[in-house]
Amino acid sequence: MEKVIDFTKNPVTEIYGMHCFSDAIMRERLPKNYYRVLKDVQAGKAELTAEVADVVAMAMKDWAIEKGATHFTHWFQPLTGLTAEKHDSFISPTKDGRVIMEFSGKELIKGEPDASSFPSGGLRSTFEARGYTAWDVTSPAFLKEDTTGVTLYIPTAFISFTGEALDKKVPLLRSMEAVSRQALRVLKKLGNETATHVFATVGPEQEYFLVDREYFDRRMDLMLAGRTLFGSAPAKGQELEDQYFGTIKDRAAAFMRELNYELWKLGVSAKTQHNEVAPNQFEIAPIFDVANVAADRNQLVMETMQKVAGRHQLAALLHEKPFAGVNGSGKHNNWSLATDDGINLLEPGASPHENAQFLLFLCAVLKAVDVYAGLLRVSTANTGNDHRLGANEAPPAVISVFLGEQLEEILSCLTAGKPVKNAQGQKLELGVNALPKLPKDLTDRNRTSPFAFTGNKFEFRMVSSAQSIAEPITMLNAVVAETLSEIADQLEKSKDLNKTISDIVCSTYQKHKRVIFNGNNYAPDWPAEAEKRGLPNLPSCVEALPELLKKENVALLEKHKVYSHVELESRYEVALERYSKDINIEAQLMISMTSRDILPAAVDYARELSLTIAEMKKAAAKSSTAGLESVLASIAEAVDQLLSCKASLEKELAAAPKAGDAAAQAKAFREKVVPAMVCLREPADALERLVSKKHWPWPTYEDLLFRL
Ligand code: ADP
Ligand code: MG
Repeated sequence: MEKVIDFTKNPVTEIYGMHCFSDAIMRERLPKNYYRVLKDVQAGKAELTAEVADVVAMAMKDWAIEKGATHFTHWFQPLTGLTAEKHDSFISPTKDGRVIMEFSGKELIKGEPDASSFPSGGLRSTFEARGYTAWDVTSPAFLKEDTTGVTLYIPTAFISFTGEALDKKVPLLRSMEAVSRQALRVLKKLGNETATHVFATVGPEQEYFLVDREYFDRRMDLMLAGRTLFGSAPAKGQELEDQYFGTIKDRAAAFMRELNYELWKLGVSAKTQHNEVAPNQFEIAPIFDVANVAADRNQLVMETMQKVAGRHQLAALLHEKPFAGVNGSGKHNNWSLATDDGINLLEPGASPHENAQFLLFLCAVLKAVDVYAGLLRVSTANTGNDHRLGANEAPPAVISVFLGEQLEEILSCLTAGKPVKNAQGQKLELGVNALPKLPKDLTDRNRTSPFAFTGNKFEFRMVSSAQSIAEPITMLNAVVAETLSEIADQLEKSKDLNKTISDIVCSTYQKHKRVIFNGNNYAPDWPAEAEKRGLPNLPSCVEALPELLKKENVALLEKHKVYSHVELESRYEVALERYSKDINIEAQLMISMTSRDILPAAVDYARELSLTIAEMKKAAAKSSTAGLESVLASIAEAVDQLLSCKASLEKELAAAPKAGDAAAQAKAFREKVVPAMVCLREPADALERLVSKKHWPWPTYEDLLFRL
């Protein structure tokens, strides 16, 4: 291991944020009046002028150069789901053959990367070909470290010249504005005169697997597809429940320590870590941030994790389902709304007044999740998550809300006009002026719900481990903006505020209680019950994607200026194409791994067996070779099946349309190619159980899941 971190020599309080152009650094380095203007710009209260941009750019450059930077980059999030960057140096040659180091306000606020090779779903052909990146003033710039130095990274949004979003950040920022606008309308009616902005706050819990790098490098499927395409189930899986919160192995602990170290330097508040349910599965969670910052930082967590894993001769797997038969990985998005004067709007309050507020925002979420379940579902739809949602070890593809019995009881009593009692059995008065002091701890825990209330926030658990959190949070903000706007409409028209609030709470509960489910979402009878309740179940990505273009969904997203119709069409195209490409890669890989690795291994071992049988017969004519012959026969049979399944997969792959209608193509991959892949895996895994380990071409599930 190259790096030993000694926190006694590098106290956390000193290293924390050393690579982040944080608020503290800006306050220290910017002239006071410019710092104040910049704060106003961040708060949306002032425009960014060229002069301010120049001053900030200069301070940023000086800081970066002092830390050893020679280059800067605009850092953005195209529709690949990853981040993108193009580096420029600060150098500016002088006439006499020297250089000075320069960085202007113009370079800080706008970049023009050649964007023609990013997925755009036809957007750029319809419109102007070029795109530009624009500085996201609200997300701190940072220094990324490699083995020889650092580079200045500036978080940006990526936009076409005609204003269409080409990335994941622009819609997120728009959705944050939308939900803020509507939340403020509601707050105003509740008498809040001080809040000027409402922020969506997000704390993403990131799950991942660690495997030994040597094993990873020997598995082409892990390297190219991020998941095992073959692999016989190990004798031991997660059934002993001995991994979750178990003792963290030394090697994982060392990795985590260095990961935290790197993240803390970046100002990413890595806070909790533990063993997850599956063997060699782990979780890391930061302290929550404002949504766009949380999204940027989650990308950094994912990137840093992979980098640090490499230093420990490990590979960090972010795929949603790297291994069949054990838990997949998700990314629980803890989400809430907070005012700029510090109130968490999903916090049950101490006073009746705060409780009216809490109940209204709770109702807004409840309604949004019920009415726009499709949009939330599609925001988590991708090839990897198809293996997770609705499978055995993951939340189902049906969206329901967990409120906990206590909270549901309160809503149900309010609605029925029945007295509400607290945990001590005391009757609580109703009406807004005398709304009950809600019990402080309203949380029972439910680990199976895709959307759970956890005391003062919701936890959206359907989100997949590898995806950017921008999309799910964008949709969540957007749908809640809509229901808040409906509530605001009612409050603004109201003649009797208290009565209107009561009416809203009661009618919301009555109309949308079907989406509340406090039971076990993994139970086999839940999907049937959900169907009876009329809740949508969109089991796969291909089935979920059309939600993006449903009339009512487009109308909502356009109304709140989160996505335009063309942007949605382009995203629909990009997602479908991506799905087909992903499956195509996996299918090709399975074919090549079958021909080049599995078949030769089976053939070698079969030959060894045949020779042994022949030699045994020759050496002692009476020796029984029946057992070995039956093993040989089983291998021959599995090989036959393997070859026939491989032929079917090749046939389906050849038949799948390669261009043209993206929906038809994705449908063919989903309905024809995927089943053929499942079919091929069976004889391959059977062979793994028959062929000697010495002959098997790659590390098995036992190696991958238990050796660390
Ligand atoms: P658990 O495993 O019990 O769900 P964790 O501590 O792993 O809890 O994760 C909880 C996450 O929720 C953390 O990232 C935390 O910062 C975040 N969180 C707490 N309060 C809020 C809030 N008001 N808004 C958004 N996220 C929050
Ligand atoms: Mg959690």
